[in-house]
Amino acid sequence: MKNETAAGRGGVNFSADENFARERETFGRTADGGKIASEETAFKDARKRVSAEKITVKVIGGGLAGSEAAYYLARAGIPTLLADMKPKKLTPAHRESNFGELVCSNSLKSNDVYANACGLLKEEMRILGSLTMEAADASAVPAGAALAVDREKFSAYITEKLRACPNLTILTEEVTALPDASEKCYTIVATGPLTADALAADISEKTGGGLYFYDASAPIVSAESIDMSAAFTGDRYGKGSGDYINCPLTKEEYYAFVDALLSAERADLHEFEKRDVFEGCMPVEIMASRGRDTLRFGTLKPVGLRDGEGARPYAVLQLRKENAAGTAYNLVGFQTNLKFPEQKRVFSMIPALKNAEFLRYGVMHRNTYIHSPDVLNRDFSVKNNERLYFAGQITGVEGYVESAASGLLAAVHLSDKIFGRPPRVFGNETVSGALENYISSPNKDFQPMNANFGILAPLPEKIRDKKERYRALAERALASVRRTAEEGKIQ
Ligand SMILES: Cc1cc2nc3c(=O)[nH]c(=O)nc-3n(C[C@H](O)[C@H](O)[C@H](O)COP(=O)(O)OP(=O)(O)OC[C@H]3O[C@@H](n4cnc5c(N)ncnc54)[C@H](O)[C@@H]3O)c2cc1C
Repeated sequence: MKNETAAGRGGVNFSADENFARERETFGRTADGGKIASEETAFKDARKRVSAEKITVKVIGGGLAGSEAAYYLARAGIPTLLADMKPKKLTPAHRESNFGELVCSNSLKSNDVYANACGLLKEEMRILGSLTMEAADASAVPAGAALAVDREKFSAYITEKLRACPNLTILTEEVTALPDASEKCYTIVATGPLTADALAADISEKTGGGLYFYDASAPIVSAESIDMSAAFTGDRYGKGSGDYINCPLTKEEYYAFVDALLSAERADLHEFEKRDVFEGCMPVEIMASRGRDTLRFGTLKPVGLRDGEGARPYAVLQLRKENAAGTAYNLVGFQTNLKFPEQKRVFSMIPALKNAEFLRYGVMHRNTYIHSPDVLNRDFSVKNNERLYFAGQITGVEGYVESAASGLLAAVHLSDKIFGRPPRVFGNETVSGALENYISSPNKDFQPMNANFGILAPLPEKIRDKKERYRALAERALASVRRTAEEGKIQ
């Protein structure tokens, strides 16, 4: 069954369950699409070989990338082990025992396929049968043009699917070293930006030194503590169904707030200032230090918002639902490294938050990644060890969706290798392929990368209008991924 996308755009998309059937359909074909054997026979032969040769894959880390990878491989019929140290040991950001845990925001960013590269990547993943997208679509909470989820439902969905999956064995285990090069089984390391210390040290030693940057998360407040007499609901430009709570500030309130933010005490100030911070996760106090008006043209911009009297406020903080029940809201764009009492003091200066109950304060974390251009091939395998793969944020893709996508892509490539099929290649005109290209192309100033239209191969023709250009890029990308998905290979 072909299903409509979450956004109802039609086209050929597959659920993760359909993936399994599709994997079978691509057996027994040559690179030019001709049949070399009956698909059923070729599939059985390949599985027999996997079984006879006792081929297994061990996926280390059951976050976004690892869950995608393990599910895809196991569904393809490859015996797969998924090892995560949770719940015995937790990273500083993980709190739960479930797989696919979202450690910070509950937003998977834009769901707009034709205007946003992350929206486009989501659609590419849906076409490939992504478990993450299936879980996100099943646990979505209203969030305007963004795809935000009830984080508990989201990770419970992923966990249930993994636990019920044939060919998949789940282990609770902290892995402390990379496998030997002589190791027969395949391994995908998807231990994320907060990889536990022993393994991180081993990876660093064997891949020529780990890199890191710092990343911050935003606080969450309880819904009942928001003063709605000083706030109004609505989405920017009226898009969506009034999902955000908007907390306006007058000119005087705005500058008083910025001044307090600038003088507030930061945690680990000394340590932090020596480090690089990823631009997309910049703490609000650092943004404010770039100029007193920076926030009202950025995180606190009022454009497209009108209060109850139809007036545009001077500045607005938006709050987004954290869960389907709407009992908790996060402060959009307010990732911070302020000390906890300072967060309460300063953020409570926003009138609607004057009595806010902080359910969780924002925190700043180390974020580790390898120098992928030196270490990885385009298919996420390690250059000097074809049985070892990396996936997720540790490869230098940045973001929930990008991390999950890399797990899915690594699994697609590894399944082709194990089954001896022509490798599927995602071109640079797709977000998937462009991210693969980014992490594996020579780059001495390698930095983590979000999905964005700038990394896609340019269109052959010049389209000046940005909206039209993005649409043309998206249409080309989707056609390309669909071809790959349906044909089973490209070249
Ligand atoms: C604090 C923080 C906040 C972030 N906020 C956002 C955000 O709001 N939005 C966004 O798009 N991205 C965010 N990111 C970036 C990134 O998208 C997430 O970290 C994402 O979860 C990465 O996915 P992953 O699968 O690579 O790793 P993870 O989801 O972190 O999964 C890694 C898994 O590996 C396990 N593990 C670690 N070491 C070992 C070991 N040695 N043995 C066994 N298991 C191990 C962990 O328990 C974990 O389950 C944030 C990152 C951090 C660190």
